[in-house]
Amino acid sequence: MKEKFKKYIQLRMDAGEEGLWFSPKRNKNLQLDELKKQMEECRACRLGRYRLNPCFGNGTYNTEIMFIGEGPGFVEDHRGEVFVGRAGKLLDSIIRDNLGLERKDVFITNIVKCHPMKDPSNPEKRGNDRPPTEEETGVCIKKFLEKQMDLIRPSVVVTLGSPSTRTILKRKTGITKLRGNIFEKRFSNTKVKIVPTYHPAYLLRSPSKKAETEKDFKLIKKLL
Ligand code: SF4
Repeated sequence: MKEKFKKYIQLRMDAGEEGLWFSPKRNKNLQLDELKKQMEECRACRLGRYRLNPCFGNGTYNTEIMFIGEGPGFVEDHRGEVFVGRAGKLLDSIIRDNLGLERKDVFITNIVKCHPMKDPSNPEKRGNDRPPTEEETGVCIKKFLEKQMDLIRPSVVVTLGSPSTRTILKRKTGITKLRGNIFEKRFSNTKVKIVPTYHPAYLLRSPSKKAETEKDFKLIKKLL
């Protein structure tokens, strides 16, 4: 019923009709739900052949701030949610303690939506993660991340860790040199301020970097 109603509304909107239900916010949410459905069917790169569950992102579409990591890992692949497990819990607490926001108040996603695996024939194997290739990254950004960005239109994007920072900023420099700075950039059709910071999984291994992370979040808070 819900799907039929969405289709009906979409048809009326495509026909250019205006009405109470055609609020920009509702329209945006419908388009993002549609994009999520497309992702669930997507097999545009080889990651789609082996993933268990693609991960669109978690949180709200109606937010000023978006967090972007590299790609789903083992737990994410099994749950279809981004940043779960210990690293996800740490990210939630950093957001809460430094910005006074919960996961439901922000949008968290990854560059690629499916789990890149060294041995794709065995998604049950631990330690099977690998970085996405340039080709996989390029395809997924075009198909999904750019559209998410253009629909959500955050004013601030926080890149988590070196790979997502390098990809979004198109730079080769590592996170240690890029963090602590604000970059203004057009990503697809959206002009955003980008603040790179450490990935929470790295912070679990290197807790001494938490002080620098807190500095990054002070910068982020000023931008909101
Ligand atoms: S990683 Fe992205 S482009 Fe590749 S199959 Fe998954 S959703 Fe599609």
